[in-house]
Amino acid sequence: MSDCIFCKIVSGDMGTSFLHEDEFCVAFDDINPKADTHVLIVCKKHIPSIADMVEGDEKIVGHMINCAKDIAAKKGLAGYKLQFNVGEAGGQEIFHLHLHLLSNSG
Ligand code: 5GP
Ligand code: ZN
Repeated sequence: MSDCIFCKIVSGDMGTSFLHEDEFCVAFDDINPKADTHVLIVCKKHIPSIADMVEGDEKIVGHMINCAKDIAAKKGLAGYKLQFNVGEAGGQEIFHLHLHLLSNSG
């Protein structure tokens, strides 16, 4: 999706520095952090939101949760929140699937 900001970030076009990258996802700091730690885990496949998941995408989403857990452990976070905003009414602004990792206990 050429007009999707997260597709551009994932492709490396924006020069974003990644905390993590693998076959399925990347992770980077949110530009407008809502907590001391605010990392976005973004899948490489352009899935607009959780509401648009199709058969097989659960592998990607499960992997994203696993990555969030690993990043939290690496950062030594005592506790954290994992959040998917789904749809405009759910507070979603960017329609490329991402998981928020939020913590004030770093
Ligand atoms: P949403 O509301 O869609 O769940 O979350 C989108 C998140 O992406 C917001 O927390 C916002 O601050 C973040 N964001 C939007 N544009 C950019 C960007 O260009 N770079 C980074 N690092 N974060 C972004
Ligand atoms: Zn995209």
